[in-house]
Amino acid sequence: MIDLKNVKKIYHTGGEELIALNDVSLQIKKGEFTSIMGPSGSGKSTMMNILGLLDRFDEGSYILNGQNVSSLTDNESAHVRNKEIGFVFQSFNLMPRMSILENVELPMVYAKVSAKERHERAMIALEKVGLANRVKHKPNEISGGQKQRVAIARAIVNQPAVLMADEPTGNLDSKTTLEIMKIFQDLNADGTTVVMVTHEPDVAQYTKRIVSFKDGRLMDDQLVENPIIL
Ligand code: ADP
Ligand code: MG
Repeated sequence: MIDLKNVKKIYHTGGEELIALNDVSLQIKKGEFTSIMGPSGSGKSTMMNILGLLDRFDEGSYILNGQNVSSLTDNESAHVRNKEIGFVFQSFNLMPRMSILENVELPMVYAKVSAKERHERAMIALEKVGLANRVKHKPNEISGGQKQRVAIARAIVNQPAVLMADEPTGNLDSKTTLEIMKIFQDLNADGTTVVMVTHEPDVAQYTKRIVSFKDGRLMDDQLVENPIIL
């Protein structure tokens, strides 16, 4: 599903060069549930943004779901992203003026899905995250955990090949964190490939594989022996 080889990412700021990812290679197969761990500044978000085609890299190659996506134009990236990737952010990134339902329908508007099918698929996605009874609410009328569930529904509504999340539980308390991890586990059990960043070792124990970064390098890659199933 994901085949990243020898990737290097350099940020240029004020004449300075910062190597954010150094010779990173990672393969992820269909159906895996992987967490990316590491201290602040170790390159986790940079890695996730590259995997999610939200950012470019300077050296190396990336094959996503059989397609070489190493050097796409912005338009091509946007197209592949909308088709293959669902992305969930720490800060939810919902549209504040739109209802829950409209937020979940939005990726399908971009994908030019008909209004009827948009509604049907949005409702199915909202049912999967347990929010089918909140569709008319606005984001500021629901809790943080519910907002993240809306974001997950929005991320899966185009049936992406991979669901990616950068610190999806970073703004949530521990009880709500478990609710979100259960949703990821359920989606993974149904066949969705999931990759998520977390800096919390406890949270990583709910995934099946832990890839650890330090100073822009991939330092460790281990299967979780007994993942905790929620
Ligand atoms: P993490 O998510 O693990 O905290 P990041 O990927 O955000 O790490 O950052 C890795 C390194 O790259 C850090 O040193 C950070 O300061 C730097 N960095 C991240 N984004 C940018 C950017 N847009 N411009 C310049 N430097 C950046
Ligand atoms: Mg980060």
